[in-house]
Order: sequence, then structure tokens, then C-alpha cells
Amino acid sequence: MSRSHTALRIDPSLSHPPFQLPPAFAALGLEADVLRALSEIDFKEPSEIQREMIPHVLAKRDVLGQAKTGTGKTAAFGLPLIQMIDPAARMQAMVLTPTRELAAQIVGEFRRFSKYRDQVHCVPVYGGTRMKEQLHQLGRKPHIVVGTPGRMMDVIARRALDLSELRIAVLDEVDRMLDIGFRDDIRKILGALTHPHQTVFVSATIDDEIKRLAMKYMREPVEVNVSRDTLTVEDVSQYYCTAGPWDKPRLLRMILQQEQPKLAIVFCNTKHGARKVAMRLHADGIDCKEIHGDLVQQKREKIMERFKKHKIPVLVATDLASRGIDVHMVTHIVNYDLPQDAHAYVHRIGRTARMGQAGKAISFVRPDEGEQLSVIESLINKQLDKLEIEGYTPRSDPEQQRAAAAAKPAQPGPDGESQSAPEGDLAAAAPAPATKLGSLGGRYAVPRRFRRR
Ligand code: AMP
Repeated sequence: MSRSHTALRIDPSLSHPPFQLPPAFAALGLEADVLRALSEIDFKEPSEIQREMIPHVLAKRDVLGQAKTGTGKTAAFGLPLIQMIDPAARMQAMVLTPTRELAAQIVGEFRRFSKYRDQVHCVPVYGGTRMKEQLHQLGRKPHIVVGTPGRMMDVIARRALDLSELRIAVLDEVDRMLDIGFRDDIRKILGALTHPHQTVFVSATIDDEIKRLAMKYMREPVEVNVSRDTLTVEDVSQYYCTAGPWDKPRLLRMILQQEQPKLAIVFCNTKHGARKVAMRLHADGIDCKEIHGDLVQQKREKIMERFKKHKIPVLVATDLASRGIDVHMVTHIVNYDLPQDAHAYVHRIGRTARMGQAGKAISFVRPDEGEQLSVIESLINKQLDKLEIEGYTPRSDPEQQRAAAAAKPAQPGPDGESQSAPEGDLAAAAPAPATKLGSLGGRYAVPRRFRRR
């Protein structure tokens, strides 16, 4: 047998050797027949939304993706969807889109992606084309339908489309669908799905109505927002407060009181720091939990679970622990310690303003950290505003005050007042024992929602 003859008997996929398949897409969990189609249409590198979304969709998570047309969103949901289709079963996936054009475009892309999964059958369902032809196509029991909500309702009413075994529902351009007035149809269609299924929303903007839809029809969705991971975190108002280490506990307490955050994450640079801050907040009667690398995974998960369910209002975290924090409605980020790395700042504040919510990020900046603040500001190309907290003024270093007081007994000043630090400064500055902080509770009344239960 000649060598070339032997080669012909090898699996045809080897004529397209695996090392030519796009490795960056393979790393996301996509398999050979999808990768092969991608290499033919010259998709080499995943776009950001694809990199972020594909693994979650493959993991069967509900996903709320914020992305605009032109960012590669069709492949972000389409590639995993095509891979997950079981050719032996029928009608597994539905994509709802606002317009016929988009539906047609998606069907076209899906056909390109499924070139080597040719058993996967996808049909468009939208108005403006002959109903008879679409009914005929649906009669062939496709695996995927892509269409506008109106026509989809129509074919469901005619019993030409059976969604009883649907496993994946994708809503593309949700904001536009709502603008066009498809809200009732969307609710009816999603409400009619009985089989356990995965739901994916993609929208350029995410407003309250979309959030409500997501809350109603999704289970703990992962939120993917590629625009947030760029350096323009537009929905986060960003502030700084000058605070020496001696000021920080007092400032944090005042911020929590005045801002009344629904959910807050307080970031510290070290595990030790996080532990200390959590202890102080506890001593102040503020309900919080710490999360950092010293806690066993199970405990971390348990805390995250409770935070996600809004049962803990304040989470004190280190950067490492923050990676997996994907929680809706985090309203406030407090950088108790300014991060050493400016990129970590972007990552931290990206924990808020999720689901398009407005968020607030407040960074404590020590008097010697002006330069670090400038590095962050130049990275995000934005100047942070100074946050005025009622009743708060930074104090000078109590150690220096003590040293000065020890070196020179208090002298009356020109106006007759003592030049040594006021009593209150020293009291707050000293590393106070828990009982003492606890006793401050009366002075800084702890709002009810922060009281430990
Ligand atoms: P979309 O945002 O899905 O409308 O995609 C916009 C255009 O980008 C389409 O023509 C896609 O085929 C193309 N596209 C999407 N992802 C990639 C990629 N990773 N590499 C090359 N082209 C892509």
C-alpha cells in the first residue's frame, strides 16, 4: 500500500490538521468541527465578547451579555449553541431578534459555523416571507429557529412550532426588541417554556426593564459586559477621599452610614488588612463578611452565595477573591487601600455598575499616594472627583502629634488654644480595641440594614 493511499484512509479531518485550527477558539472549549469551520472563514482570534461569553454558554449558564452589533456577538452565542445541539433531538434552540434582517443574518452565520456539523438544521421564522414555505421548513423539525417574536408567536399559535423541549433561548438585541414593542410577545414566549433551559440575553444597553426580564426569566445569570472591561466605566461615578491609615476606619463607617449602599464591596490590598477591616466593622455592629485567599473554597463559595442573595450587605475582599465576584446590584465599591496596580483598579470598580446599574466607587488615598492616584487617572483617562463626606475631615498623623507633644509640652497658641491634637483625634486614631469601637455605635448610629442579625 502506498503512503498516499494510506493517507486517504485517515479520518478526513486530518486533511485539516488540528494544529491549524484556531487555538484561541479551541482554548474556549470549542471542538474540532466548529473550529474547522472557523478556520475556513478566517476567524483566528476571538473578539472580546466571544472570549468572555463562549465558556459560560458552554457551561450552560444563563448569560446577560452587553455588546453592540459589530463586536462579534452572533458568534459569541452561536458557536457554543451549535456545538451543544444534539443532532438526534429536535427543536432545541431558539433565537429571537428584533428584525428580519438580523434573523436572516444570524441564520447565514449559523450555517457558516455549522458547516462541519451539517446535521444541524437551522431555519428562519419571520414575516414578509411566505408562511407556507416557513411552515414547510418547520415541518422538517429543525434544531434551531431564528426569528422575530411576532412571527414566532404566529407559528406557535398554529402549532407549527413546538417549544416543549427547548433547551436554549437566546434573545438578541433585547433593547431593540423592547423598543419595537415586542415586550408582550417576549414574555409570552419565555413564559411558555416548560423544559429546563438556558437563557441568553444580548443587548447593547441594559436598562431597568431588561433587568426585570432577566430577574424573571434567568437563573443567576453571568453578566458579561465587554464595554466595562475597556477602560471607560461610564456608569461608575468615581471619587476619592484623602485618608491616612488612622482615618480609614472612621471614614469607612461614615461612608456606609451616609451612602446606605445596597451592596458594597470594600477592597483591601492584603488578607491581613481585610481581616482587620471586617473585624472593625463587626465591632461597629455592621453586618459584613471577609473574603480572601486564606478561606477554604467551600467557605468562600458560601459567603459569595449569601452575598449574591443580598444577605450580607458588605463584603470585605482582596483582589484575588474579587475575580469570581459576579453579583448584580453591587452599588458601591470602596477601595479601602488604593490598589498597587492601576489595572486592578479598573477590575475592582468593574464589580459595580453591573446590569447597567449606576455604581459608585470611592477610593481612600493616603497623603503619600498622590502619584499612584495620578497613574490610575491617566490609565482611565479621567480625573476622580473629591468626595465630600459630611462631618469628615482628614486628620494629621497621630504618631507625629504624639511625638511632637512628647518633645514639647502643650503651649498656648497665639489665639490662646492648645496646639496639641484635640482629644477626639487621638481617641479615633489609636488602634482601638473592639469594645471601644463598639461603644462608638451610639455616636455613629449604625443604620438598621447594617446591623448584624
Ligand atoms: P456581529 O457582531 O456578530 O454582527 O459580527 C460582526 C462581523 O464580524 C461579522 O461579519 C462576523 O462574521 C465578523 N466576526 C465576528 N467574530 C469574528 C472573529 N473572531 N474574527 C473575524 N471576524 C469576526
